[in-house]
Amino acid sequence: MRIGVFVCHCGSNIAATVDCPAVAEQAKKLQDVVFTTDTMYTCSEPGQNEIIEAIKEHKLDGVVVASCSPRMHEATFRRALERAGLNRYMLEMANIREHVSWIGKNKERNTVKAFELVSIAVAKLRNDQPLYANKFDVTKRVLVIGGGVAGIQAALDCADAGYQVVMVEREQSIGGKMAKIDKTFPTVDCSSCILGPKMVDVSQHENITLYAMSEVEKIEGYVGNFDVQVRKKATYVNWDNCTGCGACMEKCPSKKNVDKFNEGISTCTSINIPFPQAIPKKAAINPEGCLMLQKGKCGVCAKICPTKCIDFEQKDEIVTEKVGAVIAATGYDMFDHSVYKQYGAGQYPDVITSLQYERLMNASGPTGGHIKRPSDGKEPKKVVFVQCVGSRDPAVGRPYCSGFCCMYTAKQAILTKDHIPDSDSYVFYMDIRSPGKGYDEFTRRAQEQYGVQYLRGRVSMIYPKGDRYIVRGSDTLAGTQVEVEADLVVLAVGAESAKNAPALAEKMRISYDSYGFFMEAHPKLKPVETNTAGVYLAGSCLGPRDIPTSVGQGSAAAAKVMTLFSKDKLESDPQVSRVNTSRCVGCMKCAATCPFGAIKEVTDRAGNVKAEVIETVCQGCGICTVTCPQGAIQLQHFTDNQILAEVNALCQAQVDF
Ligand code: SF4
Ligand code: SF4
Repeated sequence: MRIGVFVCHCGSNIAATVDCPAVAEQAKKLQDVVFTTDTMYTCSEPGQNEIIEAIKEHKLDGVVVASCSPRMHEATFRRALERAGLNRYMLEMANIREHVSWIGKNKERNTVKAFELVSIAVAKLRNDQPLYANKFDVTKRVLVIGGGVAGIQAALDCADAGYQVVMVEREQSIGGKMAKIDKTFPTVDCSSCILGPKMVDVSQHENITLYAMSEVEKIEGYVGNFDVQVRKKATYVNWDNCTGCGACMEKCPSKKNVDKFNEGISTCTSINIPFPQAIPKKAAINPEGCLMLQKGKCGVCAKICPTKCIDFEQKDEIVTEKVGAVIAATGYDMFDHSVYKQYGAGQYPDVITSLQYERLMNASGPTGGHIKRPSDGKEPKKVVFVQCVGSRDPAVGRPYCSGFCCMYTAKQAILTKDHIPDSDSYVFYMDIRSPGKGYDEFTRRAQEQYGVQYLRGRVSMIYPKGDRYIVRGSDTLAGTQVEVEADLVVLAVGAESAKNAPALAEKMRISYDSYGFFMEAHPKLKPVETNTAGVYLAGSCLGPRDIPTSVGQGSAAAAKVMTLFSKDKLESDPQVSRVNTSRCVGCMKCAATCPFGAIKEVTDRAGNVKAEVIETVCQGCGICTVTCPQGAIQLQHFTDNQILAEVNALCQAQVDF
């Protein structure tokens, strides 16, 4: 075998603490190594060309690149090998950046360790075999989970490109949080005016099938060929016939249900359409409030409905869809401020959340857009906004910044002045974080043009005094304690991951962080991709995002799907498990442990039970290989022999610098 070794300086990233020329020189002594060199940036065009030229000139049949993590550039170097005519799996990487130079300062010891890693890579490469991918068909339909603004954008982009879209939304209507808000920052344009037409487009697009009041039950399969089970929850209304006339809502005698769309600041009937612009505009019964479903008497809606579509016997229904890609755009939940006992723990009627305030300001909200105190309906003249409630606070397990609260608070303070010109607004803040386009100008406008008083410091306590509230906090700029008497207090609650996010992540077999937000494949280079091929992400399911970013990510995820669908056949990754049938005794322990259901039972010609790996389903995790008592199942490119060769190389590495 003829092996070439390329040691990368990565500028001074590696070279500052590793003697790269010495590692390259030493590598010449390793068995089968016929060429070594050190280069400034191996991933650059000259660096890759150097690899290609060396492969041709020295007739190399394997390459070791000692540089960064394979997660960063393995695909880059594999493509370089292919351009030189080599099989792309005849590459090994020694991670001498993250595993050496970034964690050690002693150049001498780092150099020894870097060489040891190169020796290991060379030993593995000597046992590598060319691998070849198989081709398989793609189902050119996409599942979009979540009908907020990110999901809507992704769905419309894919549908406009001619692909069938299945959209699953857990609520009764699409629109997400954006449908609840009044105006958007920093342009102060009407939210429903910009979102509403897009929602209508979703409902009328011939390429989009919408399942509202539905959840993804199960996702099986692999990129290009997913089988999805969707649970359509019982609405007790036949949506095929419901015209959304609302006659049932007018007559329903049960009127004390918590209005979820209005964030609980109003009540609604047991049969309800959440808001006038809802898509789909269909009624649904809340079974917990319905007298007929709870007590077996009433049925007024069924009598009044002109299309006779009330069905008290309706049950959940499971539908199955085949798709080739999945876009998760499941959004976020608002932080539950009731953990803040010092702010009244949700017990003070006039201490409300920012989203409740949006509903109060909204013309389609419960007060017709007039800002009124929930306790007595009076117009507040002094409104205090408290930022970072459930953001940047390790004490409540939310150390991260929610990103958009600074901006929506400035917007709400500006709109308060527009609604009530003789009102005063105060904002308690920690820092103003306004990096978006026009954002900083907007927060300054709130202060300079609208006279909003900004007080820098955390609020320590809110307590009632008569029919008003005292907001006590520090002013860290003035170095004093301050108390502001308020008619209404608005808590700028932060964002947290959606309640069911980890469970959904498990169904999609993608990673999530310690807060429950989904993880991208790479935070910089693959911001909407996941480590599961064919599953993409958009919007606040990745972490708090504002509307422009969510829309941008919706389009980015759609673009990824279109790229995937641009090919008629996909290539499977050959780094999967394979069964040696002569050693396999058919115990099926491997199938029991495989988390992806990638191993099936087959019978050979002699009637013996054997395991067989479904190549397209196997994710190459390797769990089966350590389970098999016979050593009969091996992960290609990570076989026992290859790993033992690495261990031997490490034990034998002789260094003489
Ligand atoms: S665990 Fe090993 S021996 Fe048992 S069925 Fe799987 S491959 Fe065959
Ligand atoms: S490597 Fe084994 S356990 Fe992992 S997905 Fe493939 S067959 Fe299943």
